This record gives sequence, structure tokens and C-alpha cells, in this order.
Amino acid sequence: GLSFQLNSTGCPVCRPEYLKALSAYYADYADEICEDCQRRLAKNPLRLLDCKNRPCRSIIENAPQIIYSLCMECSDHFGELKSYLDALERPYTINNRLVRGLDYYTKTVFEVWVEGIGAQSAICGGGRYDGLTEMIGGPPTPAIGFASGMDRVLLTMKHQGIAPSGIPKPTVGVAYLGSDAKAGAVMLVQTLREQQVGTTALWENRSLKAQMKHADRIGVDFTLILGEDEIAAGTVT
Ligand SMILES: [Zn+2]
Ligand SMILES: [Zn+2]
Repeated sequence: GLSFQLNSTGCPVCRPEYLKALSAYYADYADEICEDCQRRLAKNPLRLLDCKNRPCRSIIENAPQIIYSLCMECSDHFGELKSYLDALERPYTINNRLVRGLDYYTKTVFEVWVEGIGAQSAICGGGRYDGLTEMIGGPPTPAIGFASGMDRVLLTMKHQGIAPSGIPKPTVGVAYLGSDAKAGAVMLVQTLREQQVGTTALWENRSLKAQMKHADRIGVDFTLILGEDEIAAGTVT
């Protein structure tokens, strides 16, 4: 039930030409488009393609498509991307209406659509923004990213009957006895985790007996106890 929607929205070289063509096309429909689109036409014409209002939809249908305005570099880039997806056998749908509202996007834009969770079907959207780092004062840096809505992802998982995988069971539980040993226990947990040993702290202000019971309940393989004697001897039980 998922589909990968793909488009290219060009770059600072080719996009201005396209926006000119798009605005010229819309000028003929200025009286027919919705109020939102009147604002978009003046401020952010690319977003015209995003309008969901009924009177605007048929106008969008016949609007010029950016794919025919791409410069050589953008066109080659898009072709290459599609060839990789083909080679990986990842299905995708070219969607010439797909845009993102922010100026810093360059070339690739994409959304993941899902069926069955209502009208708002995009659960993930993103793209390439090669110009963003420079825009905020950094060196030229290629970049790509996306955002997804947790609520929609969860709705989709529910709809598709996918349960989230459980929290992995820790291998080691650490308990301590006596308040002087607590700092050592905290460090022990940290050290084990840094060594990639799944470790949990058992205490939560429990007595040693309650810590041992908790270790039993969550089913750790090893329980390490750190008391004042162990601290003094530099060992652990
Ligand atoms: Zn371009
Ligand atoms: Zn509209």
C-alpha cells in the first residue's frame, strides 16, 4: 500500500525559467484560481501545483511541467537517479505535480504515499537541498533529508497490522548496595554500554532485594552487584 512519488524541481539555473513559464500560464486563469493560489502566484508560484481545491485542479492538469524545463545537469541527474532505482528494482511514480514549498530544495523531491489512512496520504516527504548549507554561511555541501509524521506512520502501521518490534532485552543488570556504591554503579552501566553490552540499571531507588527481583522479572542473563566492599577492592560481584 505504499508508493514512492518522485520529481525534480530543478536548480537555481533552470527553475527561474520554469517559474516564469508557470506564472505566464496562470496569468490567464487569475480570475478562476482560489484565494490561496492568488497569493501563491504572487509569492511562491511553485506551490500552485500543490493546490487541492477543486477549481484549481483542472488548471494544474494542463500547467507546464518542470521536467521539460530542467537544465542539462538537472536532467542528467534525474535520469541517473531513475536508473539507480530501476537497477535496484525499486518501484516509483514520476509525479510532475510534486513540489516542496521551500526555496532551498534542489533537484530531487519525493514523497511516500500510503493508501487507507484518509485524505492526508503522504507519510513522508523530502528531497535534496544542495544549496542550504551555503545559504546559512557554510561551504558548498550536498545534502538530502526528509520529514515524516509519527502519527501517520503509526496509523499506517496499525492499518497494515504491523506491530512495532519490542525493546531488546538487556544482557546485564547492574545493582548496587549502599549509597557510596551508586556513582560506581552508574559508571559501570556506562562502561558496559560503551562496550556494546546491553545493560540496564536495576535500582530506581529500590532495595538490593527489590533490585534482584527486578532482574529476575526482566530476565537479564547476568546481574552485577556493586557494594562498598567491591568498590574498595575494585571488583564487582
Ligand atoms: Zn537545473
Ligand atoms: Zn488553488
